[in-house]
Amino acid sequence: MATDTTTSSSSSPTNAPAPTRKQWKSRAVSRTVDAGNSAYCAVCDELIKFRARIRAEQIICNVYVKNRWDRVEHYHPACYEEAGTPYGEPNG
Ligand SMILES: [Zn+2]
Repeated sequence: MATDTTTSSSSSPTNAPAPTRKQWKSRAVSRTVDAGNSAYCAVCDELIKFRARIRAEQIICNVYVKNRWDRVEHYHPACYEEAGTPYGEPNG
């Protein structure tokens, strides 16, 4: 004689609306390379050099991980394109 004491616990999921907090997204900007720049490209690992004659550009990315600022990455514009613009189209 088995007494069935199965209690079906119906869990009600709390569908509370997520608090509207600012979603920090990694983004890229395009900046001219300054004299004395010492940033290395995240793709080719070469120094992004300042050149006096041409207006060299670099892509600077603020990288956010889990909604928190994690790091800054620098790219040659060509390298950034080659990498498939990982942080979106640079604007600046
Ligand atoms: Zn590069």
